[in-house]
Amino acid sequence: MIRLTLKPGREASVARRHPWLFSGGVASAAGDGADGHAEVVDAGGRLVARGAYSPDSQILARLWTFDGRVPDGALFRERFAAARKLREECLPPETTGYRAVNSEGDLCPGVLVDVYGGTAVLELTTRGTEIWRAELEAAVRDAFAPTHLIVRETGSSRDQGGRPSPRPENAALRATFPTAAGLPRWTGPAGRGGSVEPVEARIPSPPGGGRGEGEGGGRIPFLESGLHFLADISGGQKTGFFLDQRDNRARLRALARGKSVLNLFSYSGAFSVAALAGGAERCLDVDSSAGALDLAREHRRANGTPVSDVDFVQADVFEDVRRRAAAGERWEVVVCDPPAFAKKKADVDRAARGYKDVNRVAMALVAPGGWLLTCSCSGLVDADLFQKIVFSASVDARVPFALVARQGAGPDHPVSLDCPEGEYLKGLWLRRA
Ligand code: SAH
Repeated sequence: MIRLTLKPGREASVARRHPWLFSGGVASAAGDGADGHAEVVDAGGRLVARGAYSPDSQILARLWTFDGRVPDGALFRERFAAARKLREECLPPETTGYRAVNSEGDLCPGVLVDVYGGTAVLELTTRGTEIWRAELEAAVRDAFAPTHLIVRETGSSRDQGGRPSPRPENAALRATFPTAAGLPRWTGPAGRGGSVEPVEARIPSPPGGGRGEGEGGGRIPFLESGLHFLADISGGQKTGFFLDQRDNRARLRALARGKSVLNLFSYSGAFSVAALAGGAERCLDVDSSAGALDLAREHRRANGTPVSDVDFVQADVFEDVRRRAAAGERWEVVVCDPPAFAKKKADVDRAARGYKDVNRVAMALVAPGGWLLTCSCSGLVDADLFQKIVFSASVDARVPFALVARQGAGPDHPVSLDCPEGEYLKGLWLRRA
């Protein structure tokens, strides 16, 4: 255990129950914190919070309680049970893949649990929660009774860099390098000069291979609104599935009948599967990752739709959309859901240019009366800024759009009012005049 004493005047954030304690607010520390436990006291020595200690992070502690209660197995079980109840109340029928615990949004900072059928994936995103692994694992078994439990420890590596991302990441993120001449050059989400770490290195296998007993990782089948999907949790290369887009997929499914859909940054093609289920005439997936496109083919097969090679294009989206615009292509729906372009504050300007660029060209591809669903999952680009970027793209594209709906992550990704930083996914449904 470590006792962290706040600097005088730095109690306000803790008093507002914000779960992140930044190192800059701490005057002194006593103890070693080897058990992951931190207790936070104000300058007068009064206990104000308890949480998980991450010595290498700017966020020195993630705060779990503000009433003196020690975070332990009983508390984890209570919080996981409350999280499960929320999902039971909100998820659509025939849905067995969902985010079961969403970190701060479920009062469990540093803990993500995704459930895919009988498999639970527990991700510990901070050093402190890694140390609490055994009790957290037991609580997952208790609350969700999974047949298989897979544990990912990403805390130590995340502590050294950007802020924790609540979204799954995959190895293909490294491929975010548009090369078209004359563009603001996009050099990857984590900055220039080779600082883009291979994502594999950021998902170290915990002792024992990182897999639950009886489970070899790989592709785990599950259902979303009756559709068949596979979460690719193999070998630490990719993390599952983009569960956060469920409500946008549902909306697309509802309006897709008879339409042509261009799915940019398609990953495993889940938007296309939803659109085809809704009667879309044709869906084309574009992604830089061959593995993602293979999985996209498999998803279509699993849902009984014919698979034609021309509908899976391995390309850099920034270049691909330019070729399509030059060829005069028009699509009735364009989906644009890129990876997070901003991982740290210093990336925000560059991210804004990247979003504007890809949206400007994508807008030109939308047929009159058609739709653009444009998304950003960079928490650092807030909803207001993202809308401004998209507006400015439409001015440059000289294509008028109406904003018809805003749709972020679904109810299995709750955001604590005390920690608005947990809100990261923005989706704007735009209709071309
Ligand atoms: N829309 C997807 C999730 C997208 S994740 C879904 O709903 O499932 C981002 C995807 O963008 C990843 O699959 C990654 O391989 C791909 N990607 C990243 N940079 C790219 C680029 N420059 N061109 C094409 N694809 C890219």
